[in-house]
Amino acid sequence: MRDDLEARWHEEAEEVISGMKEWRLQHPKATFREIEQALDERLGKMRARLLRDAAMASAAAELASTEWGERLRCPQCGAELEDRGLQERRLTTHHDQVVCLERHYGVCPACGAGFFPPG
Ligand SMILES: [Zn+2]
Repeated sequence: MRDDLEARWHEEAEEVISGMKEWRLQHPKATFREIEQALDERLGKMRARLLRDAAMASAAAELASTEWGERLRCPQCGAELEDRGLQERRLTTHHDQVVCLERHYGVCPACGAGFFPPG
């Protein structure tokens, strides 16, 4: 794993910890459920960022070896997909966190269907 990625993840974790510490000081009478909710909210954000970083890292490695057409075929009709370049793919994960990934988008010249290749 890249060093800058690891450094960023440590920052994310520290942000959760310091954020919780501050929240606890501001909410000294919080119930177990309220604390749990505050923690989940922060962990959810951290989770989404780590998920994005990890997914982008694998996508970057994969793209170098991916040969469009040869490997990627339309799941509907089997024709070779045409690469339409990088497009933003938005995925929603736990705690309603939206993760934006840059992914190649493929279009089938035969049936016109568009796909983000799996992965
Ligand atoms: Zn097709």
